[in-house]
Amino acid sequence: IEKINQHIESGTKFFSFEYLPPRTPNSAPNLLARIERMTAGGPLFIDITWHLAGDPMGDKETSSMMVANAAVNYVGVETMLHITCQKYSKEEIRQALHRAKDMGLRNILALRGDIPVNQVSSETPKDGLSNAEEMVKLVREDFGDHFCVCVAGYTQGHPDAVSYEQDLVYLKQKVDAGANFIITQLFFEAQHYIKFVKDCRAIGITVPIIPGIFPIQSYNSLQNVTKLSKLTIPQSIISAITPIKDNDQAIRHLGIGLATAMCKELLDAGAPSLHFYTMNLEVATIEILKRLGMWLQEPKKCLPWKTSANYKRQA
Ligand code: FAD
Repeated sequence: IEKINQHIESGTKFFSFEYLPPRTPNSAPNLLARIERMTAGGPLFIDITWHLAGDPMGDKETSSMMVANAAVNYVGVETMLHITCQKYSKEEIRQALHRAKDMGLRNILALRGDIPVNQVSSETPKDGLSNAEEMVKLVREDFGDHFCVCVAGYTQGHPDAVSYEQDLVYLKQKVDAGANFIITQLFFEAQHYIKFVKDCRAIGITVPIIPGIFPIQSYNSLQNVTKLSKLTIPQSIISAITPIKDNDQAIRHLGIGLATAMCKELLDAGAPSLHFYTMNLEVATIEILKRLGMWLQEPKKCLPWKTSANYKRQA
């Protein structure tokens, strides 16, 4: 495969992993080793997030690009690169997309990105893009069908949205502009995803909608992630976690149980696959996939020289 949507449409249930780029150049080898180990379990693809702040490589040649390049061309796993547009001019976004294409990437997650609370309007480039829909349009205008384009969906509406209904209308516009599939923001109850998919279908969004799964692995990461995504943690989870909040092992055990049960419910309800927010950790995600019977028993052999990118260059 090269483009993720071609495989999703085949109907096979699969799974995929999200990684954050390394915070320091020294942590890059650890991350790559982890990606390689987790690729042996058989994900359809992995994706690398994109962060403006604190990038050790600087804005121009980001560490996200570096990891995506190594993942696709060395590890040999199909890789999707996230690109956020809100801080860049159109030309800078085009350059980033050209670099992604040159590396052999065929999959992009087109995002607006978060607008920092203290951002002044002069920091937003005049020749820029104000939302993900405009970015999907730019990708299609400049690159035709080269990329499979994914966009973000929010099962309870984006936190800045005027309303849940209006957010769904904007999501449809992103899809109509040329997005091939949707990955959702994390959520804590299967019913949120099930209702969201029903509402999307009702307004004519027909592309695959992949649920984003966040295995709870520690008290702090749960707090950080829910603060960033402005989600409310259900009272039942707070009550279960609070008494064990200083015991990481107990929390991970609880998180694995909760996520496994939710994944079963999602797959039974027709979710095409599962996308894991790994937070660059492997134990919980692998255990959940083993319990679901989805983790490959026979490790997949990675053949770096046979990746889509290198293959084409040699041909
Ligand atoms: P958009 O779809 O542009 O929506 C942003 C807001 O604008 C919403 O409130 C929407 O209702 C509104 N809107 C949308 N279209 C229009 C329109 N045409 N006119 C007016 N209003 C409109 N952040 C990162 O920084 N790096 C990452 O790698 C990253 N990866 C993510 C991956 C996933 C799967 C998800 C769900 C989120 C990710 N985020 C990431 C967070 C994301 O950048 C933020 O949620 C951001 O605030 C919105 O990005 P978006 O692409 O969803 O925006």
